[in-house]
Amino acid sequence: MNFHVLTLFPEMIMQGLGTSIIGRAMDKGIISLEAVNIRDYTINKHKKVDDYPYGGGAGMLMQAQPVFDAWKAVLCKIQSEGSAGAKVIYVTPKGRTFHQAMAKEFAKEENLIFLCGHYEGIDERVLEEIVTDYISIGDYVLTGGELPAMVMIDAISRMVPGVLSNKDSGETESFSNYLLEYPQYSRPEIWHNKRVPEVLLSGDHKKVDEWRLEQSIEKTREKRPDLYEKWAEENQEYFIKKAKKEARQRKKMKK
Ligand code: SAM
Repeated sequence: MNFHVLTLFPEMIMQGLGTSIIGRAMDKGIISLEAVNIRDYTINKHKKVDDYPYGGGAGMLMQAQPVFDAWKAVLCKIQSEGSAGAKVIYVTPKGRTFHQAMAKEFAKEENLIFLCGHYEGIDERVLEEIVTDYISIGDYVLTGGELPAMVMIDAISRMVPGVLSNKDSGETESFSNYLLEYPQYSRPEIWHNKRVPEVLLSGDHKKVDEWRLEQSIEKTREKRPDLYEKWAEENQEYFIKKAKKEARQRKKMKK
């Protein structure tokens, strides 16, 4: 997976993503990242990339020309390396809200181009010509698209095979099947008078799995009822099995 970020602040992108798991994936060549400075492509002799919006209004707007030429340069490079093209994701509060399933889908691409806006955004005409996906990271407004692009690149990279050391860890995490992850504990067994749940020390993997699923369901019901509803709708057989098990236990107790 090759990420290309069109930005006015390339150092922010390179510094923000160069460490830890994502940095190691880059060192290993599993993913690559380039940050392209849009300012390098302006034809304005003062290196200006923004101007006032027609019709008035607050702030400045990024102009179409430098954005288009920066994109064209990246596209030519991608094509010279044998790819047909690449999706262009404009990170914007006006887009669809990013989520884990999207991260999984985008992780299947060979190249992704991110376009980061600044000031009041970007001239609509260039967006119409180059953007394939408009994505938001939430209902709030940030000063620029660099943090949203980094958030998305981090989440997408984790879904690229080989980036996480344990191949399962991306599959059992929060949102992988609508459920939030179960609580986790590490050494020591007792901390601040709080004991690690007994079942996790039992060595009985079946019981551990059952406990984790129950905890995931409970946490999701409590904290994200919207996700719980979706999970419950798709997992009716869980409730049937649970009811049967409880009935068997009640019968046993009576005997
Ligand atoms: N005037 C724009 C509006 O009201 O929709 C906001 C512009 S914002 C100050 C500057 C840039 O930050 C945007 O062009 C976009 O690239 C980025 N941005 C801000 N908030 C974002 C969000 N929630 N998700 C994704 N990108 C965002």
